[in-house]
Amino acid sequence: MAKQQFEAESKRLLDLMINSIYSKREVFLRELISNASDAIDKMYYQALTDDSITFNQSDYYIRIDTDKDKRQLTVTDTGIGMTKEELESNLGVIAKSGSLAFKKENEIKDGHDIIGQFGVGFYAAFMVADQVTVESKALGEEQAYRWYSEGADGFIIEPCDKKETGTQITLTIKESTEDDDYDQFLEPFQLQTIIKKYSDFIRYPIKMELSEEKLKEGSEDEYETIVEEKTVNSMIPIWKKNKAELTDDDYNQFYQEKHYGFDQPLEYIHVSVDGNIRYQAILYIPETAPYNYYSAEYEKGLELYSNGVLIMNKAPELLPDYFSFVKGLVDSEDLSLNISREMLQHDRQLKLIEKNLVKKIKQELLKLLRNDREKYEKFYNAFGRQLKYGVYSDFGQNKDTLKDLLLFYSSTEEKLVTLSEYVERMKDEQSFIYYATGETNARIERLPQTEMVRDKGYEILYFTDDIDEFAIKMLGEYEGKSFKSVSSGDLGLDDEEQGESDQVNEEDQAIFDKMKDILKGKVSDVRSSKRLKSHPVCLSNEGDISIEMEKVLSMMPDNQGIQAEKVLEINTNHDIFKAIQAIFSSDPDQIETYTNILYNQALLIEGLPIEDPISYTNDVWKVMQ
Ligand code: ADP
Ligand code: MG
Repeated sequence: MAKQQFEAESKRLLDLMINSIYSKREVFLRELISNASDAIDKMYYQALTDDSITFNQSDYYIRIDTDKDKRQLTVTDTGIGMTKEELESNLGVIAKSGSLAFKKENEIKDGHDIIGQFGVGFYAAFMVADQVTVESKALGEEQAYRWYSEGADGFIIEPCDKKETGTQITLTIKESTEDDDYDQFLEPFQLQTIIKKYSDFIRYPIKMELSEEKLKEGSEDEYETIVEEKTVNSMIPIWKKNKAELTDDDYNQFYQEKHYGFDQPLEYIHVSVDGNIRYQAILYIPETAPYNYYSAEYEKGLELYSNGVLIMNKAPELLPDYFSFVKGLVDSEDLSLNISREMLQHDRQLKLIEKNLVKKIKQELLKLLRNDREKYEKFYNAFGRQLKYGVYSDFGQNKDTLKDLLLFYSSTEEKLVTLSEYVERMKDEQSFIYYATGETNARIERLPQTEMVRDKGYEILYFTDDIDEFAIKMLGEYEGKSFKSVSSGDLGLDDEEQGESDQVNEEDQAIFDKMKDILKGKVSDVRSSKRLKSHPVCLSNEGDISIEMEKVLSMMPDNQGIQAEKVLEINTNHDIFKAIQAIFSSDPDQIETYTNILYNQALLIEGLPIEDPISYTNDVWKVMQ
């Protein structure tokens, strides 16, 4: 039998194919199985128009066999088969897809079933095999034919014996080398793993003989190896099933099977969209954050399938960073894939899906917030920080998407509240949403700066996360109400109070001037406080950078020494100030000691380090003596 040559370009293409198109060798199996599935689909389509064929789903299957001694891997299907001419043209010309032609001829527009389109997948077999034999008997033909090739130098076609309609492809697997393990493709368990990974949702059973150690009958410690034929794929993807048929357990189990996390999912979302772009998705909101979630190591992304065949393990484009905690998958038949089916041709399709998913995820979270507060708080404790990063990053362009999902601890409610709940409770004359920053709720609770606001009966939101104040500055306002820190220079309380405390008499002003002089370079002003009730001092700030922000910024690697403009506020009604008034003209030395102590105490209250602890303790001793 004369050897036919691949067409000239085909030779080079084959070489390219074998060496560079696919990033993983194991996908050869995905390609052969996809072809087998296509061949069975064609049988199905044929039966639709040809009364002489009946299509019984149960007659159709794909089989994988191995023979370690011969180093052979066989893929058998009961599909439509190929005629001599088809073997020649479909397998002899690279980039010729019989399947694409079939789709066009039969006007199968939705492309719902048939996977093939590029006419290259078959040659992936040469990534792992030295010799490839295809024996095929086409539907309605008497004679079967064998196609045989050892790679780039061509192929032979000759008649052969084969009873059943369909195709059997036999690969002679390459010898393993030090660098490349080909033996794995002769191990049934390894093959099973590969099938599960890429071809789990092929709609026809993929059968394999698998051996299992089982207790001998009637024995308690004697084992025997039993070889059984098993279907290794689950066939119908859960996301293609009707939601009504599925239970919570089904979704939870799928989460476990997919190893999306070690926890139970908190919530799942199953969507099937039939709009501009068609897709199905199952998304999960995990209960706990993965250990590396808030680090650069964490990789976001969803699995991407096309027609039930896995294309990408993690497609990051499907999720914005602020929803990076979501796990799950998307399956779309409308994706235009590149030739290796490892990438997409158009970002636009993914963008559309992403936009859509964001909407669904947000809806689901809002629903949870409304209907199951406890569960939502669990979610928020794990991932709330990510939402706040989301408000802050990308120049705040996502703040409107996220603002209603935020929660902060409230001084009056003593629990987490939404901004909308806060605004609803605001007093008539109250113009601002007040917040206080600190390390913990307990510390904020005792901040002197909160006294006046608390006294007015206003609610204060407690910011304990580094990102909180940055996020809120980016947000700017909520329902027309701006945010105000209880430490800011002007609290925006009603006029009366301001008027009263603005009246500083000359004597007191002289004291403040003196103190300001002593604290030169440390504070920008010393003032009578409008916000203190029982505490003698506190720090407040002027300008955009708060003291809390200064703390956060100073811990950043590219810290540029950005500092808050600090103001030392004095409670003029406090006994301490009375004592200062009493000694002001008589003992300037003592004034300096008092001023330094008060300043350092204000720093301590803020959780800021004292610049010179020795001189501070000396000052305190001096006063104690
Ligand atoms: P594609 O699947 O993208 O069309 P392939 O290189 O995988 O490209 O296959 C080329 C063609 O060979 C297919 O379109 C199909 O016509 C034919 N073919 C491959 N495998 C089989 C098979 N098992 N049964 C029938 N036809 C097949
Ligand atoms: Mg193919």
